[in-house]
Amino acid sequence: ETIGDNLDRTVRAFPAREALVESATGRRWTYAELAADVDALALGLLGLGIARGDRVGIWAPNCAEWTLVQYATAKIGAILVTVNPAYRSHELEYVLNQSGMRLLAAAERFKTSDYAAMIEEVAPRCPGLEHVVLLDSAPWHALLAAGREADRGALEQAAAALSPDDPINIQYTSGTTGFPKGATLSHHNILNNGYFVGELCHYTEHDRVCIPVPFYHCFGMVMGNLACTSHGAAMVVPAPSFDPAATLAAVAAEACTSLYGVPTMFIAELADPAFDSYDLSSLRTGIMAGSPCPVEVMKEVIDRMGMAEVAICYGMTETSPVSTQTRADDSVDRRVSTVGRVGPHLEVKVVDPGTGRTLPRGEPGELCTRGYSVMLGYWGEPEKTAEAVDAARWMHTGDVAVMDEEGYVSITGRIKDMVIRGGENLYPREIEEFLHTHPDVLDVQVIGVPDPKYGEELMAWVRMRDGAEPLTADAVRAFCDGRLARFKIPRYVHVVDAFPMTVTGKIRKVEMRAMATRILG
Ligand code: ATP
Ligand code: MG
Repeated sequence: ETIGDNLDRTVRAFPAREALVESATGRRWTYAELAADVDALALGLLGLGIARGDRVGIWAPNCAEWTLVQYATAKIGAILVTVNPAYRSHELEYVLNQSGMRLLAAAERFKTSDYAAMIEEVAPRCPGLEHVVLLDSAPWHALLAAGREADRGALEQAAAALSPDDPINIQYTSGTTGFPKGATLSHHNILNNGYFVGELCHYTEHDRVCIPVPFYHCFGMVMGNLACTSHGAAMVVPAPSFDPAATLAAVAAEACTSLYGVPTMFIAELADPAFDSYDLSSLRTGIMAGSPCPVEVMKEVIDRMGMAEVAICYGMTETSPVSTQTRADDSVDRRVSTVGRVGPHLEVKVVDPGTGRTLPRGEPGELCTRGYSVMLGYWGEPEKTAEAVDAARWMHTGDVAVMDEEGYVSITGRIKDMVIRGGENLYPREIEEFLHTHPDVLDVQVIGVPDPKYGEELMAWVRMRDGAEPLTADAVRAFCDGRLARFKIPRYVHVVDAFPMTVTGKIRKVEMRAMATRILG
């Protein structure tokens, strides 16, 4: 089944049920109305000569049009290239040319970004780009109007030519460990992943899912949109970009049963001064993913937000994304100390990154996953694909993990962040967690820096609490002495105001290592 077939099936089953709500504007679509707009847009795109395999970009914050473009491209087999709305002209130019985009659908502007001006700036250097359509503009409405007039036969013909194994989506990774890579995903990859996320949350046509996470990332477009449309649930878009008050207001006004977020989003919602004034009693479930969740936050999400069934999911862009998940009957402790167990129809294993040998339970190593969710490859980068996906189709995640006797997986860092000091493998996360217990430390990151004697030495970057004296290397040593093995005590300490971050809000240790090497001269 293709994404288009799946949507058609839901539309036939629940035509009058609500499909899409944009809280900020009050606009809403039933499944029948969504199908009418999606088909009109799909026919409009066909009319422009866009066909199966062509790359169509979408560059916009969360909005209803984003979702229309997602399903319209899927219906005709055009490959949707999801461009991060935080990108600027330099990054836009890279993805435009790297993906070979023929058409770009974009918001005209958002916040301080003038997208239309940036597109104009890079267009002369992007010869493959033939069409730019600004969302909700006159040409956008003309495209839909043309599609409504067009002969439906063209759409049926286009749909009949598609295969579920066709590439349908290029999503760039966050760029935490290097340059973003374009993970290429098929209908089969993302439709199944979305469907199984819907099963995990027990979605039916009576569910209403609040999606404050970005659509350009699989968390929004797969775990959000595809999970909803494959089960007949409603997609509720609270605001163009994350806003805690707007999210809480949308849950209350739309009686949402499920809420998504990365842990920092839930933290912001719980800290909202008006938190107690929102009626969140409709909430039953939700998903937290992307980074580890502190135990206090998990408890509050369950107790104060009423999300008793909230699940933790782990995954990556390259695996559509979800690989492991907790379940509603897992304890709070399991839902914070692990990322759950392997998802349906998938396999996971933990291997020695050096030898590839599967390690015994309890030993840290590289997590590998296999199954329907593994990407087709990185767009235009066969060497990088071969490094990530081996001949037996195992995806090497680059994450360090431990699996316990019952199959629960804990993520303890990234292979690229592992420090090898004098032949000893050190995982920064353990040292960071220990340094976090220092009363003056607000936040801390540990990296390896080149060292002539040991190969690598440890360096801690520390953000101090307000009013605290900057920590010195001597003070850190004194704090760790007797409580942490000697070889795990950072030799260098660097006090900073902030860490270098990706546009998706992850810390870029690659950049820290480059900066540290310069600092140490
Ligand atoms: P790049 O691959 O470009 O360096 P990235 O890996 O951060 O960037 P994403 O695909 O957005 O890009 O993120 C996937 C990564 O996020 C995983 O490999 C893992 O390190 C981390 N992650 C995802 N979910 C969780 C979770 N529940 N707990 C801890 N870490 C998680
Ligand atoms: Mg990655």
